[in-house]
Amino acid sequence: MTAPNLNVIIWRGAESGSLKSYKVPSYAMQTILDVVTYVQRELDSGLSYRFACRVGMCGTCAMTVNGKPRWTCRTQASLFAGSTITIEPLRNFPIVKDLVIDMDSFFDKWQSAGGAFKPKQQSQTGFAAVKPDHPLRKAANAAIECINCGVCYSACDVVRWNSDYLGPAALNRSWSLVNDERDGDNRERLATIASDAGCFSCHTTQLCTNYCPKSLNPSASIAGLKREVVRNSFR
Ligand code: SF4
Repeated sequence: MTAPNLNVIIWRGAESGSLKSYKVPSYAMQTILDVVTYVQRELDSGLSYRFACRVGMCGTCAMTVNGKPRWTCRTQASLFAGSTITIEPLRNFPIVKDLVIDMDSFFDKWQSAGGAFKPKQQSQTGFAAVKPDHPLRKAANAAIECINCGVCYSACDVVRWNSDYLGPAALNRSWSLVNDERDGDNRERLATIASDAGCFSCHTTQLCTNYCPKSLNPSASIAGLKREVVRNSFR
């Protein structure tokens, strides 16, 4: 028996481009990334897209699927049974080509928000002992599993309105380091975060949290940063 076809529409081009239709055979446990891969390998070898691990570890394959940002390797095509599947690049990023976005500004902001760990202790004197049940460690760990997929950044309305806004992923990383007692760079980090592009630009729409595929809560991280910046201003 012939497998039923999925109706798939994919963005082709860069900032100016158009949607193109494809018919893709469907099968059980097929992911959106499988759909895109089929199109590229069997129907249209010029299609550009990115992926790496295919198991939800690397954050490379995020795209907009039927209007929502998603990690495509863990999104089942059956979720859209009976509908046309429209696949576009993540929003709020410049498009390089087709489904490939330019993430330079995303990672630049991550750096600007103090996303690099700067140890207090410069000499190699062994591992710093941080108790697993310490409240700061728990707060740092709650934000640390980010895979930099860009889904939250794509979902964020404030990023859309204000291209300078550091965004939920960068601020979430910052919150993780603010709580890391081994880090020695909080003064500089909090100064950047208190700027116009920082945490106070967040409108707490919670879209980042709603869409994060790792179930992180960047919205709560940003709220924590707001409290910490205010507290720090009285020190
Ligand atoms: Fe992706 Fe979540 Fe990290 Fe945002 S916070 S980049 S949605 S893993």
